[in-house]
Amino acid sequence: MRRLLPLAERRAVGPWCFVDHFGPARLAPPSGSVGPHPHIGLQTLTWLYAGAIEHGDSLGSRQRIVPGQVNLMTAGRGIVHWELTADGPPREVHGVQLWIALPDADRFGPPAFQHLPTLPTFHDGAFRGTVLIGALHGARSPADARSPIVGVDLVAPGPGDATLRLEPSFEHAVVVTEGTLWVDEEAAAPGETLFLPTGRDAVALRAERGGRAMLLGGAPLDAPLLIWWNFVARTHDEIAAARARWMDGAGNGFGDRGDYPSPAIPAPPLPPSRLLPR
Ligand code: MN
Repeated sequence: MRRLLPLAERRAVGPWCFVDHFGPARLAPPSGSVGPHPHIGLQTLTWLYAGAIEHGDSLGSRQRIVPGQVNLMTAGRGIVHWELTADGPPREVHGVQLWIALPDADRFGPPAFQHLPTLPTFHDGAFRGTVLIGALHGARSPADARSPIVGVDLVAPGPGDATLRLEPSFEHAVVVTEGTLWVDEEAAAPGETLFLPTGRDAVALRAERGGRAMLLGGAPLDAPLLIWWNFVARTHDEIAAARARWMDGAGNGFGDRGDYPSPAIPAPPLPPSRLLPR
């Protein structure tokens, strides 16, 4: 597991506030499960490179996701979900999970879940782009975006380059997940995130032997951002209220507990001091 955002140097890229790259790994059951846990204030976007995951949530969604598809879950005021590595081969798992901070208009809105079985693609030079959310090079994803944003999977099967047109009002990051890529004149390997500030209208990518990356971008956040456990909020009090609601049990506004397939995950204790936005 690689935590690619937030970093000490950067809390977010546009509304993208959390990026985990997991695997590749082969799992022995039941180590691939994540039990029921709550979220507020964010969207989670899941994108797999290999394997399969079964998603369940308190809206009643039950959805298997495989490579090439997106699961986009909007927490709003509160949702509970769980994930199970799908039974049987392949038991490998490799992918990314990303969090998108919701704007004020949606932070306390109703939860939602969207499964996108197919996504638009484009080709530029040696790279194939799959637009997961937002739009790039004339391809627009049907994903339920709540603020100006772009997220694109970029694959070069072999050597070559590409020039991506960028929205100048967005800040962007290139997150490399496979191979070594040159981003303008900077080499980046898996585990590295290269940040591109606003005002850029293009970026050059080059792969010497092939590689894979994500381009993430959006309008810079203009609000405080506080991430604690599975909650994204603006203030300590919002976090504390969500934690208390979750730990209260039934009738907590996070959905029907009776339907969970396994014990819910308790929230850790809050730190003794007040949480401060970054
Ligand atoms: Mn989760």
